[in-house]
Amino acid sequence: MVAGASSGIGAATAGVLSRAGYSLVLGARRMDRLHSVAAPLGAKAIPLDVTDRDSVASFCVDVPKCDLLVNSAGCALGLSEVADADDAEWRWMYEVNVLGTMRMIRTLSPALKTAPAGHVILVGSIAGYQPYAGGAGYNAAKFAVRGVAGALRQELLGTGVRLTEIAPGHVRTEFALVRFGGDRSRADAVYAGMTPLAAEDVAEAIGWAASRPSHVNVDHLRIQSVDQATTTLVHREGSQESTGAWS
Ligand code: NAP
Repeated sequence: MVAGASSGIGAATAGVLSRAGYSLVLGARRMDRLHSVAAPLGAKAIPLDVTDRDSVASFCVDVPKCDLLVNSAGCALGLSEVADADDAEWRWMYEVNVLGTMRMIRTLSPALKTAPAGHVILVGSIAGYQPYAGGAGYNAAKFAVRGVAGALRQELLGTGVRLTEIAPGHVRTEFALVRFGGDRSRADAVYAGMTPLAAEDVAEAIGWAASRPSHVNVDHLRIQSVDQATTTLVHREGSQESTGAWS
């Protein structure tokens, strides 16, 4: 099952897992986009809003069996400093990234535990390791995802269910466009003069973690473009600059 499969990393992951032979159930809110990902893969597309408990329940209800959950549903909103923080933006980031993660795992837990080798793969971020000015709301959410992963790994001990957190740096997806409310030029500026990861790069890492033998748990995987050393230190066209933003 891939949550957040209508674009970006989740959509690319669906492609990788399909080629690896998985039978897929994909979820997201934009059904037109989800169908266009699912149809060529012969995957099932089901509406899913991870902020809504009932939506998560109905997404999972028809799935008697789940070997692998990839949770790629997530977002950042804005780039406000704490002094100017917007309550609604912070709340939404926490709802989607943290409570959404919890809801998916909680609901699928029985199916994952009865699978021969259940596996949960969470898409975190290097923003969950390195805070940056203007990132606090998103940093807090992705640090929290890492906290959830750390606790869950211990709770799953003895169940045979694996838990992996993948933490990417800049990936060219719709992430920056969503963050900046559809402002294309602001979103493009994130990747100006550097080569970010492609969604497929992260998807392949997810596919690799999922395809390890069942006794091998890849706990954390951080993956960044060679042009990005930290959340804010990015090499751009001959210069090395601290950009002040953002992964
Ligand atoms: P993206 O292209 O914007 O994809 C985000 C996905 O999450 C979409 O499929 C979106 O689908 C889904 N989603 C958002 N809110 C949702 C909700 N309430 N319920 C269900 N699905 C929801 O961006 P992306 O880069 O692939 O992001 C995937 C993950 O990677 C996120 O967790 C993000 O924080 C993380 N990440 C991204 C980057 C980056 O630079 N791109 C870096 C580090 C980490 P709908 O809108 O159709 O619901």
